[in-house]
Amino acid sequence: MKNQTDYPLERVRADFPALEQRIGDYPLTYLDSAATSLKPIPVVEAMRRHYLEDAANIHRGVHYLSQKATEAFEGARASVRQFLNAEHAEEIIFTSGTTAAINLVAQSYGSATLRAGDEIVISHMEHHANIVPWQMVRERTGCVLRVIPVTDDGRLDLPAYAALLGPRTRLVAVTLVSNALGTINPAAEMIRAAHACGARVLLDAAQAVPCRTVDVRALDCDFLAFSAHKLFGPTGIGVLYGKRALLESMPPFMGGGDMILSVSFEETIYNGLPNKFEAGTPHIAGAIGLARAIAYVQELGLDRIAAHENDLRDYATGLLEAIPGVTIVGRAPDKAAILSFTLEGVHPHDIGSILDARGVAIRAGHHCAQPLMQRYGLAATARASFSLYNTRADADRLAEAVLQAKELFA
Ligand code: PMP
Repeated sequence: MKNQTDYPLERVRADFPALEQRIGDYPLTYLDSAATSLKPIPVVEAMRRHYLEDAANIHRGVHYLSQKATEAFEGARASVRQFLNAEHAEEIIFTSGTTAAINLVAQSYGSATLRAGDEIVISHMEHHANIVPWQMVRERTGCVLRVIPVTDDGRLDLPAYAALLGPRTRLVAVTLVSNALGTINPAAEMIRAAHACGARVLLDAAQAVPCRTVDVRALDCDFLAFSAHKLFGPTGIGVLYGKRALLESMPPFMGGGDMILSVSFEETIYNGLPNKFEAGTPHIAGAIGLARAIAYVQELGLDRIAAHENDLRDYATGLLEAIPGVTIVGRAPDKAAILSFTLEGVHPHDIGSILDARGVAIRAGHHCAQPLMQRYGLAATARASFSLYNTRADADRLAEAVLQAKELFA
């Protein structure tokens, strides 16, 4: 089962009990990690321990358990800081996920700084979570949305991007890795170009953090968002990274407990970072699970994970390409292990159902990227996404099932 001589695939798979189950007569072949990853035992154990032994609210308690929970929660923030190589822990804001993090920037930064005629640049390959919040800002401020086109093979059109940047560009919001195409965008180069014209940059790193080292200082991004649940952690928690000076200049997004220093009916004084953006009781167990998930991928090594996934990507691409009628959508030279494809004469939802009957879990649909689907003249694709626990045998089962779908519909 080993693909790389030094990659501990069997040990990794043993950490994910979900993989042991059978779907009818078939072993589970989980190829939907781009939607959400499976969870390893250490992550669930860390959360279980918190809930069963240490569940107390954070920050305001003087008692032992509250202090322990506070230490674990703030320790998780320190883990995320180190994971992203951020300079300061208070640059890490816990949110409920990528979507909430982008909405926070759109509502707080966008509404406070953007004026009619200011421009926000997004791309044609964005997830709806990085489109709709900006449309909502546009409605409130009268700012203009500009869209970087994508090439036929699924790259961002960089000369077109350069031409879009100008004196009115205030913000560039792009994905680091496309969830629908797998494309890895040249973020550092794009950020340099945006900064050269005075614009800020937000990176959607939802698909990037599970399989790549993401260093916010090396990239020099101004904001970055990701979700724990695609990184082998729990649902309901994610992160907004922002440069400290920027976050300090931004108004709070939600009001309530924890985000204040003092409240009277006449005046409320807001708390400093990061609490200013964390109103209410946060997902304490989620932060603990996220920190354990970060430790999990770091113990394994993100470079080794990327090498393993690249091997699976190339192997599976070869198998799918060999099936007549299969078209892979997204052929960028630099891409993650996300394979979007169509099969002539078979609707992607039918592919998904036929594969499911053989225990192969993929996603079929527009992948929350309807403008991108429209760009390629498609309503939907089938998408197989590979992760650190997948095997070449999983890719074999995918290809066999696609072949059977083709024969069924012939
Ligand atoms: N951006 C990208 C690139 C994604 O893949 C996703 C999840 N599919 C999101 C944003 C939204 O993430 P969440 O639903 O966890 O907020």
